[in-house]
Amino acid sequence: MSRTLITDAQNTWCPGCGNFTIQFALRNAIQNLVKEGVPLETIVLVTGIGCHAKMADYLNINSFYSIHGRTIPVATGIKLANPELTVLCCTGDGDAYAEGLDHLVFAAKRNSHITVIVHNNRVYGLTTGQYTPTSPLGFRGRSTPGGTIEAPFNPLSLMLTSGAGFVARGTSRKMRELEDLISQGLRHRGFAFIDVLQVCATYFNTSEVYDRQGYALSDHDPADFEAACRKAQEWDYNRDAPIALGLFFRQEKPVFEEQFPRRSMTPVDRGKAIQAILDAKR
Ligand code: SF4
Ligand code: MG
Repeated sequence: MSRTLITDAQNTWCPGCGNFTIQFALRNAIQNLVKEGVPLETIVLVTGIGCHAKMADYLNINSFYSIHGRTIPVATGIKLANPELTVLCCTGDGDAYAEGLDHLVFAAKRNSHITVIVHNNRVYGLTTGQYTPTSPLGFRGRSTPGGTIEAPFNPLSLMLTSGAGFVARGTSRKMRELEDLISQGLRHRGFAFIDVLQVCATYFNTSEVYDRQGYALSDHDPADFEAACRKAQEWDYNRDAPIALGLFFRQEKPVFEEQFPRRSMTPVDRGKAIQAILDAKR
């Protein structure tokens, strides 16, 4: 195993970007999995398009750089083809909550056994600062110089009502806590969703807001769905309100890939079946 798992690729994230925190939290979580005996080569990262997506270049693990909004179908396909793999997605708020929203909802509904980490900086950073589904009302950016007139939606509430069995929120301001949430997500059998309030140092620097309003969930039972829904509604990604951080909800339920009819195939037979499908299309 690489000692650091960080590649030699030139890093082009801006100084102060919250992606660095997510990268190190994820790196540590992966290293812990490997120490527990999960072979590094069985861990696969899928990214979309956006600043977050450079994670595929910067982490030295098997990865797939997909297209905008399509991290989740690629990850689901990988998991379906080889259920032995640990599959995770790094995706952005534009990627997951706009272009790829339907995929997110259906992966939660199916309980696909993947971990989804949303780098939610509440702005399109790579394209220099347009509003996204989680930008606050009145957000001034490249596409809304007079301020957006749309209120944001609440991804935690959406995931809870879509059937996600693991729903958590972290922030790039708290690396150890984020590492712990990612570790729990990777160990959860089923769909794990982690919304990471990520600071975009250049186009939406929310450090002070998350430091002032963020607090760690305590005295909260993650098995209690209604309590999780109430906690998720406490802050609507818009107004000034306390921002709960931690695990909101966890529930084990049947995993999509294990119920899929091809589950009894050996890897060799699965390979033959895939080849037959490809041959039929030629
Ligand atoms: Fe990070 Fe924002 Fe710079 Fe992108 S634009 S690298 S999200 S600080
Ligand atoms: Mg973004």
